[in-house]
Amino acid sequence: MKLAIRTLALVCAFLLTACATNPAGRNTLNMIPASQVNQMGLAAFAEYKTKKRVANAPREQAYVECVSRNLIAQLPDQQRSLPWETVLFDDETPNAFALPGGKIGVHTGLLAVAQSEDQLASVIGHEIAHVWYGHGGERVSQQFAAQAASAAVNAYAGSRQDGNSQQVVALLGLGAQVGVLLPFSRKHETEADVAGARLMAEAGYAPGEAVALWENMARAGGPNVPTFLSSHPNNRQRIEGLQRMQDELSQIAAVAQAAGRPKRCR
Ligand SMILES: [Zn+2]
Repeated sequence: MKLAIRTLALVCAFLLTACATNPAGRNTLNMIPASQVNQMGLAAFAEYKTKKRVANAPREQAYVECVSRNLIAQLPDQQRSLPWETVLFDDETPNAFALPGGKIGVHTGLLAVAQSEDQLASVIGHEIAHVWYGHGGERVSQQFAAQAASAAVNAYAGSRQDGNSQQVVALLGLGAQVGVLLPFSRKHETEADVAGARLMAEAGYAPGEAVALWENMARAGGPNVPTFLSSHPNNRQRIEGLQRMQDELSQIAAVAQAAGRPKRCR
């Protein structure tokens, strides 16, 4: 038992040194260096590309890349300089994701739900914000911490906790796509909504279209909730939150538009 307590103390000491502050000013747990989380994201994306069909649609591919580029241009230096890549996948489910390291995936099915360039920008902006705020890495850290703590507590009994790589991929943000449903927490969703909507407005896109997009998304599901909403819960609160931000966002967008943004993609 002494050993378990000592292990637990070590874990706790380690956790204390692993705290950081994210761009929203919230204290977060970061047990894994960002460079390593990025590597995990790149590996997950490379694997996803071998399993899913990349869309053979050059115009649409150019379109999603162009919208991503307009948004990425407004990120802080450190984030903007990531090797961003946007890939359109041939999949009818209305879905999109972004992984640490700067990899964005958009399903062809999303283009039917996001009825304007501005609506598409609101989804991609939201996904980029998850990466910008380090949500994937934070989720992996939380999972490791929980496993380490429970491993320490169970050490005496000799129980083992093995990592699950598919779960790690899901934690990074590929949840619904790999069939493991791990919805982002309400805290992460709210942060991504706020940061994503500001990013979209700074790129000159019409902020009201973010509200329209989420309403479309809810309608598109009919009785079946679209996969994207399952991994991005709290739709009603999300819409209300975005509505409350509209005045602020409109002012940001007006400044951006006066400066000639966005360069339209369609
Ligand atoms: Zn989200």
